[in-house]
Amino acid sequence: MSEVAMKDAAEGIITCDACPVLCRIRPGRTGACDRYGNVEGVLTRMDPMVIASQTEAKQGPMVPFLGAGEWRGTLLPGGEAFVTGIGAGTTYPDYKPAPFIVSSRHGDVDMVTVVTEGIFSYCGLKLKIDTDRFVGPEQAAVRAQGEQVGHVTTAEYGSQMLALGGVRHLTGGSKKEGVVACETMLTLANKGAVELVIDGGATLTVQAGRAPIVNGAQEERMRVGCGSATIGIFAKQWQGHADEVIVVDDHITGVLTEHQAGRFLEMRPAGIRVRGRKSTPGRYFQVANPGLGWGGTDITDPLAIIERIDPKTAWPGMRLLMVSTTGEDAGYFVLDESLRPVSAEMPEAVQKAVARIGENCEPALTTVMFMAGAGGSLRAGVTENPIRLTRSIKEALVRVTSGGAPVYIWPGGGITYMVDVAAMPDNAFGYVPTPAIVAPIEFTMRLDDYRDLGGHMGSVRPVEEVIEQLQVTAPRMGNG
Ligand code: SF4
Repeated sequence: MSEVAMKDAAEGIITCDACPVLCRIRPGRTGACDRYGNVEGVLTRMDPMVIASQTEAKQGPMVPFLGAGEWRGTLLPGGEAFVTGIGAGTTYPDYKPAPFIVSSRHGDVDMVTVVTEGIFSYCGLKLKIDTDRFVGPEQAAVRAQGEQVGHVTTAEYGSQMLALGGVRHLTGGSKKEGVVACETMLTLANKGAVELVIDGGATLTVQAGRAPIVNGAQEERMRVGCGSATIGIFAKQWQGHADEVIVVDDHITGVLTEHQAGRFLEMRPAGIRVRGRKSTPGRYFQVANPGLGWGGTDITDPLAIIERIDPKTAWPGMRLLMVSTTGEDAGYFVLDESLRPVSAEMPEAVQKAVARIGENCEPALTTVMFMAGAGGSLRAGVTENPIRLTRSIKEALVRVTSGGAPVYIWPGGGITYMVDVAAMPDNAFGYVPTPAIVAPIEFTMRLDDYRDLGGHMGSVRPVEEVIEQLQVTAPRMGNG
């Protein structure tokens, strides 16, 4: 025994080997991540294990297992309990069997769930932020506490998207960048709020399942569609109440009488040409710059996007509605004798038509998807022949969940999965200071299939035995 080992033994210090940090933990204290402690000389996982029946009670029913027809709202009908990976502990350096390999009976079928927590250096978050407002240019750096923790990625329909975390920020930059990236991901994954600042863009406060706050203003509505889609949806309802409707949108601004919808309705051309690049009739790109104004543009005066009004086509008294894709911004104008649009009181029928746009908008939310690669050493905790686990997942013989929540497995190589953190129990994630994120993961399959893929059959224990053994509460201790 080395001198250090002898000294540690004399002082009751134990070494945690659950991750590469290898904390030396004094009696009554926890390691650097607070997940493991020295409880009377025994290395102990400090968080309680979470069982699916507990989460159901707190968070509503969970998803059906294997699409069972007789699904009653529990993961394992009859067993009424599903042991999740939350608080399970890890298997680092992973040749050891997973902490819990739990058997149960599902109808006439013997099942097994391999339960563990993965330490993920390769992981990140995808944030879908329901807003058209300009948050920053694509590829712009996203910062937390001054450190870059991600970037703005391709916008989706009605949403701005951020990619946060990932191995480059965790391991490829300064120590502080890695720590802040890990902290940011952990807070968001555990459903907490985080402030992010985007280079050349907005300051955001985001939280899973909550409305995003853009530059201090809480977003209310997700747009009903792009400008062209809004015209397609509501054209008939506007007919007779306005002679022209222009739906202002950063991506595709729509002009009703020119649009195919207006043509089908045989509307009289109004002769109003908007700025920007014409894509197809009644659909215009780049009518303004992106911003925090109407429809995700920088426009606050909608008339600013009108390039010209054709005197041969337009007529005095023409009624013009300009509206944004959420209906939050709207203006009603009537052309005077010189064909100049003059602001007028919006008739009730038009007000109703604008309100209908708002009524069809969904509440703006932030969605946080956790994405990680479980195709590495973690698999050795499940089977001695890891490639068989990967293949069995692809063949749909193995159901993968994270904290009991369903995951999406990406096609192609590896076990790259994605899970909505809002579907998981609260505080399901942890971290280790390497830095990396710790996430629960469970693999459920038929016991026979588990045997066939080279599973650790000697470690299988019945679910009742595991639940009986689990400690529901953990002792409170100091860190260090
Ligand atoms: S950081 Fe946590 S898991 Fe890693 S060695 Fe220390 S106590 Fe154990």
